[in-house]
Amino acid sequence: MTMLDALAARLGAELGADRIVNDRQQLRTYECDGLAHYKVIPGLVVLPLDADECARTVRACVEAGVPFVARGSGTGLSGGALPHAEGVLIVTSKMRTIVEVAPGDERAVVEPGVINLHVTKAATPHGYYYAPDPSSQQICSIGGNVAENSGGAHCLKYGFTTNHVTGAQVVTPDGELVELGGRAPDTPGYDLLGAFVGSEGTLGIATRVTVRLTRLPESVRTLLAAFADTDQAGAATSAIIAAGVVPAAVEMMDALAIEAAEAAVACGYPAGAGAVLIVELDGPAAEVDTQFDQVTALCEANGAFELRAAADPAERALFWKGRKSAFAAVGRISPDYIVQDGVIPRTALPEMLHRIGEVARAAGVRVANVFHAGDGNLHPLVLFDDAVPGEAERAEEVSGAIIDLCIAHGGSITGEHGVGTDKARFMPRMFTDDDLAAMHLLRCAFDPAGLANPGKIFPTPRLCGEVPRRHKAGEPAAAELF
Ligand SMILES: Cc1cc2nc3c(=O)[nH]c(=O)nc-3n(C[C@H](O)[C@H](O)[C@H](O)COP(=O)(O)OP(=O)(O)OC[C@H]3O[C@@H](n4cnc5c(N)ncnc54)[C@H](O)[C@@H]3O)c2cc1C
Repeated sequence: MTMLDALAARLGAELGADRIVNDRQQLRTYECDGLAHYKVIPGLVVLPLDADECARTVRACVEAGVPFVARGSGTGLSGGALPHAEGVLIVTSKMRTIVEVAPGDERAVVEPGVINLHVTKAATPHGYYYAPDPSSQQICSIGGNVAENSGGAHCLKYGFTTNHVTGAQVVTPDGELVELGGRAPDTPGYDLLGAFVGSEGTLGIATRVTVRLTRLPESVRTLLAAFADTDQAGAATSAIIAAGVVPAAVEMMDALAIEAAEAAVACGYPAGAGAVLIVELDGPAAEVDTQFDQVTALCEANGAFELRAAADPAERALFWKGRKSAFAAVGRISPDYIVQDGVIPRTALPEMLHRIGEVARAAGVRVANVFHAGDGNLHPLVLFDDAVPGEAERAEEVSGAIIDLCIAHGGSITGEHGVGTDKARFMPRMFTDDDLAAMHLLRCAFDPAGLANPGKIFPTPRLCGEVPRRHKAGEPAAAELF
């Protein structure tokens, strides 16, 4: 009997056979996340019903010395939930209870498998919503959002997941259930919750999350502006922010992304547009109306040839439908594509889009751009056909070159999709050895045995007992810390 067989037998007896998946064919369901070209069939899948079952699963893994990986809905785009062939995949999709909606405290308490949009649906009758809105919000889980510190179109004004999580119950990598943060806006001591948010499943598994609810705005107005090219749309974005207006969202799509969206969902964007901006303003009605006029004038001044104000919620939804379906829509114009995710200062947008175009043309591949322009968070979609020899490799090169360009422009290798499996190799391009060693010390403080989501984020599997670099005088050695 292998170690995994023994674990399956133990957990099946303790939790119930229906929590265990160990049939080879069924295990294939979990072999990848949204980054589907990395595939690993997990050794075993466990679907706990609650925090206690999750903690017992982790403790069983620890006792057996078996690695474990958390998985929410599996929509991640960086291979963060890629399973371990000799490990256990702990899937939270049975943990979907909305424990509490507390409008008086502007909080909701939810289990990690709860779908992002369901939090808003539960809060709306009370006059509230959950602000972070990844485009995948109809399917992604709050646990996955916390692990990736996910963003979304409205994070420009409202901030990322980390600004909307005040507490989490967590199973630590040794199987203990602990509370980080709480209901209050802040707690004394080190910001362990802050460290946990965005840690991509390497510091433990969230089993309950306390999120901040945001009051529904009195007024929302949405503008679709069409430009001849991305230079004009980029300049309009900078002008809006420079004018002191902070829209709820400023999203940009270029001609190729528009073509894909039209083919997929017939969103009816203005014909002939080289770029469109969706600008959304929300807040008190009087303020929104004033800012709407300002934004309209700034778009016109920067070359917008058509401006449409959403007349009603249905038209607003149609504007957003094109944007929110853009990733999947690209499948209509290309058999294969890579979704890249990088950040640059907003003012570098026009220059960066030119450089991406140059790199793509030189490699003979097409790149569609659809992104959170207000945040400078790019999502170039590198199109290729896997059936054409060499195209996948060229697409990978372009994708990597785009990340180098982001770093060269003072940006980052990921804006919201995380490092996961995919970007670990880029970490040394952005961080020094000392930076990586400091991050690694933190990881080891939570997980000295290195069992929680091993192989992710860091470029090489560093072991916790290892001294990752020469120590400076007076600094404690890793071994003294743990
Ligand atoms: C069409 C599409 C659009 C997208 N748009 C956006 C977007 O606008 N913004 C954005 O930020 N992302 C976006 N994403 C990426 C993805 O949806 C997010 O990263 C999301 O947060 C992942 O949630 P999930 O439940 O699918 O997590 P998974 O993919 O299952 O896991 C992601 C990571 O979280 C860890 N994890 C999962 N649950 C837990 C837990 N309970 N405790 C600890 N760690 C855990 C996993 O180990 C893994 O490292 C998009 C993806 C798709 C497919």
